[in-house]
Amino acid sequence: MNPIFSALPTSVFEVMSQLARETGAVNLGQGFPDDPGPLDVRQKAADAVVNGWNQYPPMMGLPELRQATAAHYKRWQGLDLDPDSEIMVTSGATEAIAGALMALISPGDEVVLFEPMYDAYVPLVRRAGGIPKFVTLTPPHFGLSEEALAKAFSPRTKAVLFNNPLNPTATIFSPADLDLLAAFCIRHDAVAICDEVWEHVVFDGHRHVSMRGRPGMGERTVKISSAGKIFSLTGWKVGLVMAAPPLMRVLAKAHQYITFTTPPNLQAAVAYGLGKDDSYFEGMRADFQRSRDRFAEGLTGLGFSVLPSVGTYFLNVDIAALGESDDVDFCKRLVTENGVAAIPVSAFYAEGAVKTVVRFCFAKRDATLDAALERLADWQ
Ligand code: GLN
Repeated sequence: MNPIFSALPTSVFEVMSQLARETGAVNLGQGFPDDPGPLDVRQKAADAVVNGWNQYPPMMGLPELRQATAAHYKRWQGLDLDPDSEIMVTSGATEAIAGALMALISPGDEVVLFEPMYDAYVPLVRRAGGIPKFVTLTPPHFGLSEEALAKAFSPRTKAVLFNNPLNPTATIFSPADLDLLAAFCIRHDAVAICDEVWEHVVFDGHRHVSMRGRPGMGERTVKISSAGKIFSLTGWKVGLVMAAPPLMRVLAKAHQYITFTTPPNLQAAVAYGLGKDDSYFEGMRADFQRSRDRFAEGLTGLGFSVLPSVGTYFLNVDIAALGESDDVDFCKRLVTENGVAAIPVSAFYAEGAVKTVVRFCFAKRDATLDAALERLADWQ
């Protein structure tokens, strides 16, 4: 057995969802929307299964999806991507991250990570032989600093892997943050592996800025997107990878031996969906923003200290303000005594540097959010 994997705990998302099922709790832990996703996109997937082709699609993805991806990111992020040499379809963003690490990292290479970070990053970096170097972001702003980056980067740095917008903090890195990080990548000849799956889930008029478009980063960025997040269909696992041809050629080597391809019906439906007009994307954001505001207002009314959320499906509360010091313990009490599942944010820190933030998923129907608020009313 590989000791890195055999020592791993079950993912916090599975643990909390399982606890929610056992206790009948309202599940605001694992991040998935109540909304079933756009009917026309789901219908395209169904039609493609019935009428279409269900054999292996091309390894790099359906040509129509790669073309739709190039057009989508030109329209939304001003990126110039060649559909034939710079775009690949994977079975989810997590496959893309695992493949990028397998393809780009050799034993002993250092990989810079910003914590809190998605729970898959550290095990995948270690399994690829990489040595994680952490930049610790702390509440309430979870901001980047030049000093912290200078400590984390070294002549052995091969890559930085980060999520923007950032799950679980619900913050986004500004263009100035990206340019600061870009300067370190360029100085150290490192690749930026950018998990941008939340790019469309941004609020308050924000518009996503991709590292791929920052000066000097076109040749050294692996941009990773997810149809699951773009269309609120988290089980679909259709990832989109964008990188310059020299990087893409080696990323394709990893993909061809991990999954080789991704269900063609889902690819056809995503190709259709990416071409939907602006009103779909604006409407999705407006709906989530309304849920965020409803839940934030409810939590504030109950005495919780709510941290700002400008993107993702998540809202965090600072439990230190409630006199609490252990988020795991707090979440256990919430699920067993109040019947609400949430995620302790310490699970996103490699060494539990912060233990006083709790994450709630607000991408739910009003009735679900209201039921959770009712149950949280006597959280003390
Ligand atoms: N991305 C989801 C979240 O942050 C979890 C996905 C999973 O369960 N692995 O909640």
